Amino acid sequence: MLSSLLTMTADPQYLDDTTEIENRVNDLLSKLTLDEKFQLLTSHGRHRLYSLKPIKRLKIPSFKLTDGPLGIAMHSAGFSKNTRFPATVSLAATWNRALMEKIGIAMGKEARAVGQHVLLAPGINISRTPLNGRTFEYFSEDPYLTKELAIPLVKGVQSQRVAACLKHYAANNQEVDRRSLSAEIDERTLHEIYLRSFRGVLKEADPWSFMMCYNKVNGTYGCANEYLIQRTLFDSWGFNGIVMTDWFASGKVKTANATQACINAGLTLEMPWPRVYKTGALRKALNNGEFTEETLNDRVSRNLRVMMLTGLFDSQEHLPEGERNTPEHQDLVRCAAEEGMVLLKNEKELLPLNIEDLTSISLHGANLNKKFGRFLYGGSSAVSPPREITPKRGMEDFCRDRIKILPRGADAAIVFAGLNHGRGGDSESMDRETLHLPKKQVEEIKKVASENQQTVVCIIAGSPIAMDEWIDDVEAVLVCWYGGMEAGHAIANILFGNASPSGKLPLTFPKQLEDSPAHSTGNRKNYPGDNEKRVYYDEGIFVGYRWFDEKTIEPLFPFGFGKSYTQFEYGPVSISRQSLSNPEGSIIIRVDVTNTGDRPGAEVVQVYSKDVKATVKRPPQELVGFEKAIIGPGETKTVSIAVRAESLAYYDDSKHDWFIEPGEFILRVGLSSRDIIGEVNLTYE
Ligand code: BGC
Repeated sequence: MLSSLLTMTADPQYLDDTTEIENRVNDLLSKLTLDEKFQLLTSHGRHRLYSLKPIKRLKIPSFKLTDGPLGIAMHSAGFSKNTRFPATVSLAATWNRALMEKIGIAMGKEARAVGQHVLLAPGINISRTPLNGRTFEYFSEDPYLTKELAIPLVKGVQSQRVAACLKHYAANNQEVDRRSLSAEIDERTLHEIYLRSFRGVLKEADPWSFMMCYNKVNGTYGCANEYLIQRTLFDSWGFNGIVMTDWFASGKVKTANATQACINAGLTLEMPWPRVYKTGALRKALNNGEFTEETLNDRVSRNLRVMMLTGLFDSQEHLPEGERNTPEHQDLVRCAAEEGMVLLKNEKELLPLNIEDLTSISLHGANLNKKFGRFLYGGSSAVSPPREITPKRGMEDFCRDRIKILPRGADAAIVFAGLNHGRGGDSESMDRETLHLPKKQVEEIKKVASENQQTVVCIIAGSPIAMDEWIDDVEAVLVCWYGGMEAGHAIANILFGNASPSGKLPLTFPKQLEDSPAHSTGNRKNYPGDNEKRVYYDEGIFVGYRWFDEKTIEPLFPFGFGKSYTQFEYGPVSISRQSLSNPEGSIIIRVDVTNTGDRPGAEVVQVYSKDVKATVKRPPQELVGFEKAIIGPGETKTVSIAVRAESLAYYDDSKHDWFIEPGEFILRVGLSSRDIIGEVNLTYE
């Protein structure tokens, strides 16, 4: 009698956070009515675009999702102002895994502080064209670099029990026609380039959610794509979390059986309101036997699992405490912005500027006083910070009374050129139209440079820029990307040498658009798509530097390139063992790096593999390892870089699986993809 009274009043098992998660999921699932299950497959409805409806009967609170890759976006987090982080491409240019984890933790804390459960980040699409409007939101043209940096970021976010969300799965590589386009990609290229980082991050960081792409892949929309979701993500890779639509994407699935197509394909969450997952449509399709209750339960369980993982049902005191807009976060974003800056040119060692010697400096350019953190500016990644330090503010804080208006006669002139998040710039839902800077900016650079021999161009942009028209006119070029809310201070710190640049390009900078793979044919079918809205990835696996190397095209600046204020010397390259036979195995490459200059700096040592003799066509070289080392003046450090056997694999489309072909590999150690300092041989047996 007493025990039955106790079971009646005690909290159900799913509310008990000491119970194992799978048991909690099953317990809650068993208590849901059919309509409640349907409700859990979609969001709140028309007025709340970023949350799920609570179910009071079962004490299920509202589950909340927020953008995005640059921090907690205002439009999806109760109009709050939050730390604006450097854009993803800027983070990628740091090549610093440890920093990525710190960034992830900080983002997770900010999400928690505004009561959010899912952070709609990171975006890990591969840069196929430099014109893609969202290049700034993604890491790189290389799947290995993307994965290696996204892993610690995801781990950091999720350490705060906030779900990371890998997006946009898959092949959302351009914004033009993104809602109607079909990316036509052969199986090997799809896996070897476009799915590779999704698979890698899943394997090593266990992200709790995925967002599907807007576009079709080989004729089928992402959210109804059974090959991408059920067969690849679930069956082959073993993912057990949420698969959501991109916002409004499912509305495009206009077949008669859209509901069953999406649920059978594996879609678990339709955002931001029901179109294919309306209760009536789901009930009808279930009654007609178009999907099974087992499938329904699987999809609902996935959502419940992530709700549990993010502590939706747990008491506050058992969850990590959030915090946002702290001085620590602001310091972190400033350091990250500094570390991401890439010094491309520095004639006569003009940089760093010496504040002691400088009597006057002139500041110019379209981005001199530009703020980027505005409501929805650039699209869904827009984060509005409580304050934003522009380059002008950052420079004024350093050399207030030395700023003069005209370049003539100044000790140095700085032009803050670049793009912005408006039309033709770095923005969601549109691509750039040209690789060049706007004409007016080119004229301004040339004019300033003609009046001042000490002209520095700071590029504030999120994607590659053509520089041929003006680069020979100026002494120094620094790529600052979009550096977040402290960008101005970070830029000044680099220009005046408080920090030494150590960023390396995560993207090839082509001399001209035609040099890059998607544009080489000049045919619309390769970009932006033909009349049938199909875009053919005819370049195959030769994306980014793989293309430039294969076709021996000289880029303006190669992948992995970036200068420092100090100098390094490198010892001989050694390898821990010369052969490998275990596909799970790895070797270590070692090289001594000495900082021979008189200021601290950091070097990123990169390892590229070359398959000497392969039965299939392979890129001339592929990034398979890197390590960043911070080295003091006069100091020598042994840099150890792990290379895993799996990185040597290619995707064998006859076996529909990855394959490491036995034979000889050359591991090329470099300071960029085009600056190789040593090689070692490795045999895979
Ligand atoms: C974007 C996503 C974003 C979503 C929610 C879409 O337009 O493509 O990246 O997370 O909106 O705001």
